[in-house]
Amino acid sequence: MSKNMLDKMREEVLKRRTFAIISHPDAGKTTLTEKLLLFGGAIRLAGTVKGRKASKHATSDWMEIEKQRGISVTSSVMQFDYEGHRVNILDTPGHQDFSEDTYRTLTAADSAVMLIDSAKGVEAQTKKLFQVCRKRGIPIFTFINKMDREGQNPFELLEELEQVLGIRSYPMNWPIGSGKQFRGVYDRKMTQVELFQGDDHKEIQVEKVEGYEDPLVKKIAGEFFYDQLVQDLELLDVAGDEFDMEKVRSGELTPVFFGSAINNFGVQTFLENFLELAPTPTPRRSTDGEIDPMDDKFTGYIFKIQANMNPAHRDRIAFLRICSGKFERGMAVKHVRVGKEIKLAQPQQFLAQDRDIVEEAYPGDIIGLFDPGIFRLGDSLSQGRNVEFDELPTFSPELFCKVTVKNALKHKQFQKGVDQLTEEGTIQVYRTIGFDDMILGVVGQLQFEVFEYRMKAEYGVDVQLQRLNFQFARWIIDENVDPSKFRINSQLVKDKKDNYVVLFESEYAMRSAMEKYPNAKFLEQAP
Ligand code: GDP
Repeated sequence: MSKNMLDKMREEVLKRRTFAIISHPDAGKTTLTEKLLLFGGAIRLAGTVKGRKASKHATSDWMEIEKQRGISVTSSVMQFDYEGHRVNILDTPGHQDFSEDTYRTLTAADSAVMLIDSAKGVEAQTKKLFQVCRKRGIPIFTFINKMDREGQNPFELLEELEQVLGIRSYPMNWPIGSGKQFRGVYDRKMTQVELFQGDDHKEIQVEKVEGYEDPLVKKIAGEFFYDQLVQDLELLDVAGDEFDMEKVRSGELTPVFFGSAINNFGVQTFLENFLELAPTPTPRRSTDGEIDPMDDKFTGYIFKIQANMNPAHRDRIAFLRICSGKFERGMAVKHVRVGKEIKLAQPQQFLAQDRDIVEEAYPGDIIGLFDPGIFRLGDSLSQGRNVEFDELPTFSPELFCKVTVKNALKHKQFQKGVDQLTEEGTIQVYRTIGFDDMILGVVGQLQFEVFEYRMKAEYGVDVQLQRLNFQFARWIIDENVDPSKFRINSQLVKDKKDNYVVLFESEYAMRSAMEKYPNAKFLEQAP
């Protein structure tokens, strides 16, 4: 690459921020996303925004399920520009019934925004998603939403972050009053008050002050809230954590912002601070060491495969996170797993029903690649090098079903469907040893419904699913004893690669088995 090109590359990488919003359903993720997009004016939407509110966006036939249930099955990517930055938001399904897809999407993010309902605090799904982010050690920014409603005491909320999630916090601003009496927030860094006016806040009214003891603060807050505010801020100054950028970077300390997404209050302040503090595209681990985004050779990996986004096309789209180098349409890259050169001629992003062709893209960006069936989850593409990325976590399924075909004559199509759907990574398949029954394992209930629907819609096969009581799958390795000789009270099955897996109905059963066979390894994932 010439010096000019390297400079350009550097500039493009440094202006990018790629993040995911993690939250529990109803915390306001759709609302917050919409407001963020408004600030930037979305330039591209890859995939679908939630079916519920954005039915105008691309939907596929099997996504009927999400329309019917008002939820989003798949994750998508949105891109916008704001004050010299290019922002990529990775959407993660908001419903409780999420899948491994949700987790995988998080691997494509460089940071996360944790959205919390001020009345509800840390909820179940936020906790699960947080733990995945924590494992990766990415920075986490917190937005406490719905301050226009009666919520929990802000100190209690911070306490909860610490107790439930184990993360320290640094409030960037602090609420003055709450609910009907919400007056606004005091910005600790800028020493200013942003006034809440209960409307759409096209312009936020900001009062610059000398500090929280400024009489103007008292005037705005009123006597009652003022005393509380001063007490709170003093306590934070004295006993609160210090702002430490290193800890923010490693995900040990989360900057916290208060606001109300629906009123567009606190969103812009959040966005501006976030863009300043959030990491630019980070290096990724590979078989060839860490790959720096500035590396001039193009590399990337596929973190998600989605079928039939457009009902008119029976193709799949593979979502690729660019890790290094510049992507140009038509470029030839190496498909590392199969060891072949391929041409990336039809990369796309999505805007409404129209496919929008990407001409160039940089590290941190996500592109959708037309996939005639050549990609698998985790596949790496690379310009000239044999690097493979090791980013995709796999998760142990928690829900299981026995699956049978209603019409035995359809067995071939059934097998084909199962093969393809397991390749997409949304379900895992096992076979029982003696009877060769097929058992499916998933992370979220919805995957069963999607499976059933797609088998019918795409392969013309009616399947019958019968829920089983298992809760855990463990891959067994024992140097001395053949696992099929294990005498334990649980179901022994084999996975696609003929590894032995035991399905347990309870934690108790699992622990007893571990005690009985102390020399065996019980792995949460395939070895
Ligand atoms: P999601 O499920 O996380 O995507 O949540 P939504 O964005 O769909 O919001 C859930 C509900 O909360 C909707 O009825 C929103 O109008 C409402 N909501 C979102 N933000 C706020 C807020 O700041 N204040 C109040 N009072 N309601 C909000």
